[in-house]
Amino acid sequence: LIFSLLFLIISVSVIFAIAYVQIHQKRSLSPGLKYGIVLDAGSSRTTVYVYQWPAEKENNTGVVSQALKCNVKGRGISSYAHEPEKSPKNIDDCIKKVKEVIPANQHNSTPAYLGATAGMRLLKLKNESAARGVLASIHDYFQTQPFDFRGANIISGQEEGLYGWITVNYLMGNFLEKNIWRAWVRPDGAETTGALDLGGASTQISFLPEKSEQNPNSTVEVTLYGYLYNVYTHSFQCYGRDEAEKRFLASLAQDPKLKFYENPCYPRNYTVNLSMEHTFGSMCTAHFRPANYDPNRLITFKGTADPVLCSEKVSSLFDFTSCQGKENCSFDGIYQPKVKGNFSAFAGLYYTTSALNLTGYFQLNQFNSSMTSFCAKEWSQLPHILHRFEETYARSYCFSANFIYYLLVRGYKFDNETWLHINFQKEVGNSSIAWSLGYMLTLTNMIPAERRLIILPMSL
Ligand code: AMP
Repeated sequence: LIFSLLFLIISVSVIFAIAYVQIHQKRSLSPGLKYGIVLDAGSSRTTVYVYQWPAEKENNTGVVSQALKCNVKGRGISSYAHEPEKSPKNIDDCIKKVKEVIPANQHNSTPAYLGATAGMRLLKLKNESAARGVLASIHDYFQTQPFDFRGANIISGQEEGLYGWITVNYLMGNFLEKNIWRAWVRPDGAETTGALDLGGASTQISFLPEKSEQNPNSTVEVTLYGYLYNVYTHSFQCYGRDEAEKRFLASLAQDPKLKFYENPCYPRNYTVNLSMEHTFGSMCTAHFRPANYDPNRLITFKGTADPVLCSEKVSSLFDFTSCQGKENCSFDGIYQPKVKGNFSAFAGLYYTTSALNLTGYFQLNQFNSSMTSFCAKEWSQLPHILHRFEETYARSYCFSANFIYYLLVRGYKFDNETWLHINFQKEVGNSSIAWSLGYMLTLTNMIPAERRLIILPMSL
């Protein structure tokens, strides 16, 4: 009996050992996951994204997902113009998290990109050598890191718009789908979704117009998976939320004799002292700078919560007259074909509408009434209304909502009907909607230009 029992124990152990080795071998043979890192160096902050995808499905669509999003503490890199060596300092905290997400043996082979947007485009216009200094200091920082760093670059407004559009359509699966024969084909109807992005220093609109246009100033041609798309895209510099608000404050603070300035978009009983530099220091407000400009001097704004006056004053940030009488024109004389199809509105557009408790699809009337009621509030009421209360955002939601109204309705010409096709959202699945994903997909050649008929075996 003892002999049989011993034999049984040994046999079972051998079977387990063989099974373990086989499973282990299979795992180490499978190619596993690959990763990519993008730093979105925006005007107000930097965000670090890590994307992952199954290595063997590199060129399939919809396989890339977001593994990490890390908000870098502090301001955007463009604010380090006078101390460029400090610009990478806060990035390091996020890079530590990146190293926890990506297995150590893959750090060397993981591509990392930094793309800087309108904050750096403005700094480059103001002080090119300072902009170069900031980028060089980030480049130096990445030389001390194990990743395959592929450069810190300022991207153009058109690229920003296009990459946002690619991200939205990639995440929504609009480029390719698997048909019943398990081949990748363009979905029936082949509708794409437009992208509306509101950043801190610029705002972008991108969509496929009704008629395919080839105007090189406003259209970019891209071939994705064998299909050609002529994407209308425009980026408005100084129409990002933060820069637009600086232009607004600058327009209010024009009379040097006044002790304080009334702000009809700030809540009642809210008072704030802002440095002249904050309001007039930007390229977007340079032409407003008063004769007594002193960057450190403080100017006082007092909220009056006047929805009608707020709306009227915000409208003057846009030049609508230069489009009068022109059929396809948004504002500032910029050509724009009629909006068409579904749109995704993200970043600042999402933050503001969600503060008004409006996300996803809703009516323009609902937006207008929520905005009017928010704009009449007292400062002391806001902590009870807002889910997340942060002073700099909270005081400005009324301004932002009015700005969004003029941008989308009077500018881009969304009406009661077309507004219903805008989805105010910040992510699809667990992936953020931001230009950074489209940037990485493009730079790593993960969206091939040519169409490959990928037919998968039924078992996959
Ligand atoms: P970003 O997506 O970081 O480029 O931000 C776009 C714009 O939204 C900037 O003007 C930010 O100041 C603003 N913003 C960022 N986070 C929030 C938030 N939680 N609430 C309101 N506005 C925000």
